[in-house]
Amino acid sequence: MKLETIAIHAGNKSDESTGAVIQPIVLSTTFERAPDGSYTSGYIYSRSSNPNRTSLENVLAQLEGGADAAAFSSGNAAGMAVFQSLKPGTHVILPDDMYHGLRNQVKTLFAGILEFDFIAINEPEVLQQYIKSNTGLIWVETPSNPLLKITDIKKVVSIAKANNIKVACDNTFATPICQQPIKLGADIVMHSSTKYFGGHSDLMGGALITAQNDDWWQNIRAVQELGGAIPSPMDCYYLARSIKTLPYRIAGHLKNAQLLAEYLEKHPKVEQVMYPGLPSHPQHEIAKQQMNGFGGMLSVCIKGGEVEAKRVINSLKLFAQATSLGGVESLIEHRASIEGPDTKTPFNLLRISVGLEHIDDLIEDMAQALG
Ligand SMILES: *Cc1c(COP(=O)(O)O)cnc(C)c1O
Repeated sequence: MKLETIAIHAGNKSDESTGAVIQPIVLSTTFERAPDGSYTSGYIYSRSSNPNRTSLENVLAQLEGGADAAAFSSGNAAGMAVFQSLKPGTHVILPDDMYHGLRNQVKTLFAGILEFDFIAINEPEVLQQYIKSNTGLIWVETPSNPLLKITDIKKVVSIAKANNIKVACDNTFATPICQQPIKLGADIVMHSSTKYFGGHSDLMGGALITAQNDDWWQNIRAVQELGGAIPSPMDCYYLARSIKTLPYRIAGHLKNAQLLAEYLEKHPKVEQVMYPGLPSHPQHEIAKQQMNGFGGMLSVCIKGGEVEAKRVINSLKLFAQATSLGGVESLIEHRASIEGPDTKTPFNLLRISVGLEHIDDLIEDMAQALG
């Protein structure tokens, strides 16, 4: 089946007892045993599993072409389950440009538990020299946040496989509509479902999808069940509902992002646009090979430094100045401010989550703000 069809059907289960076409929300935390004490429905207690979560995990696994998926209460909880599943003392290689919340998680919560190096992973040539005997995981994020760097997933996987190392990929920016890392050889895919999967900036969630139902995956399942950072049945329902329109929303996001990127690149007040769909992007060719679309996120560096960048933000009327991304409404953010004092993000950089408003209105607003 194609992704559009999977998105609509794989996360739904019509209800035989009522004939409801759309799956009901099962709020019950506990499930009744049969007279012999067995659980005939397969459900026992909602922290372990719940019908709405099962449906959500099913559509997530199928969209990414994986063997199984696990849903979490946030993207960070999903990432944390991966790091918690590793043996203490494992060495992990991560990108130098990645979602700052997960970088902070690794640095603060896993200090003294895991060893880690943050490196320019988008240049796989340097990867080899960081691999040690205890390296167990390479974490990839492509396109990366907020610099939109592209990492050649296949190349990283081939180096990792040769050294018996697992590869996990944060696929939040791309979504499975634009990129399917498991098909490129990754072992685990991670998502912040808060972003494009939810798509309306009104729910939080995270997901992991595995290529294989192996021992490592069972460890991750144990972190999910025993750690308990699971999404509620309501959140699972709303996520599965939103995912039905994901392919069409992404088609709109990437069309708008491409047009806005092209407009900004020609603007005299713009120093640089970072968008993998532009031929000027240094890894445009790799992006073309491994992506089916370049996503809805872009970053732009404004001439005149931080002061001018902030003036532009405050002059915009349609783009809300807010963090997060992937909603139908356009958002813009001065990333360096939110990332804190150790940020390497340029101070004139604005990150834009291009929404689904009409592109003419977005460009008109950008034109008046840039001046
Ligand atoms: C938002 C985000 C996360 C974290 O997800 P939460 O749902 O906020 O916990 C991880 N990675 C990327 C790329 C993100 O954008």
